[in-house]
Amino acid sequence: SITEIEDNEEDLTTRAPIVTVMGHVDHGKTSLLDYIREENVIAGESGGITQHIGAYGVQLKNGQKIAFLDTPGHEAFTAMRARGAQVTDLAIIVIAADDDVMPQTKEAISHAQAAGVPIIFAINKVDREAANPERIKEALAQMNLLVEDWGGKIQSHDISAKTGQGVEELLEKVLLEAELLDLKANPDKPAVGTVVEAFLDKGRGYVSTVLVQAGTLRIGDYVLAGRNHGKVKAMQDERGKNVDVAGPSTPVSILGLDGAPTAGDKFHVFEDEKEAKDIASKRTQLQREQSVRTQKT
Ligand code: GDP
Repeated sequence: SITEIEDNEEDLTTRAPIVTVMGHVDHGKTSLLDYIREENVIAGESGGITQHIGAYGVQLKNGQKIAFLDTPGHEAFTAMRARGAQVTDLAIIVIAADDDVMPQTKEAISHAQAAGVPIIFAINKVDREAANPERIKEALAQMNLLVEDWGGKIQSHDISAKTGQGVEELLEKVLLEAELLDLKANPDKPAVGTVVEAFLDKGRGYVSTVLVQAGTLRIGDYVLAGRNHGKVKAMQDERGKNVDVAGPSTPVSILGLDGAPTAGDKFHVFEDEKEAKDIASKRTQLQREQSVRTQKT
């Protein structure tokens, strides 16, 4: 079994919030994620985020960081939750101001609420003639979701993912909400986290994007992720730049695993390579037995 190291209070340091964007189809989730990705470049770095690795980190002008799961839609959110992974600290729920609070909006709200994840509403497409943000806020109020403008506690901001209007302020509200959550992690221990996505690349082999949640991941670390394992040969950030270390709330794609783990799989760094291999082969064996059993019934 895998035992996680208990942290002492004094070992914990503030970490960046991890944010998921959800909402009804066509309300602008992808546009918002794209806009944020293109506009926010780590200070001092040239060039934007070029790789789509399923997650990315941004640093705002004030130096604060936010990590985004770049898999819009609540399918990814629920798939991860179904595997026991709780990676999201905050949910941005996008609602088009020229439409209504739609069924998938309501679903997204209940998913976030069930997970105990605070919601921030992004009332989108305010650049459109037909946009009526107040009507959306009223509809939310009728669902007992009172936004700040309406005397409630839920943050919301009017934005346009197309022109960028309000996006910076939205991100400031994300940071404000994150501050209230007092998010902390111990960076000084073997890394643990969650797999965001993984695929086989013709030239590079298996590439797995992981989100480090605690500890620090380093090149040369031996990783177990679901049924897969291997030594981290290289790590890249969302710019395709090689990095040597990845601390808490950092998304990074790693090379070196013997296969593609599933989104939502936990990963752990092992000091003992053999132990990691043993657990991986036990999990593979278990999987085989389960599939034989389902074939028989
Ligand atoms: P998703 O399905 O929620 O990911 O929605 P998309 O980001 O794909 O957006 C759906 C459509 O709405 C696309 O044609 C976008 O260009 C458009 N769109 C998204 N945000 C805005 C916005 O703020 N203003 C306007 N005018 N169009 C937008």
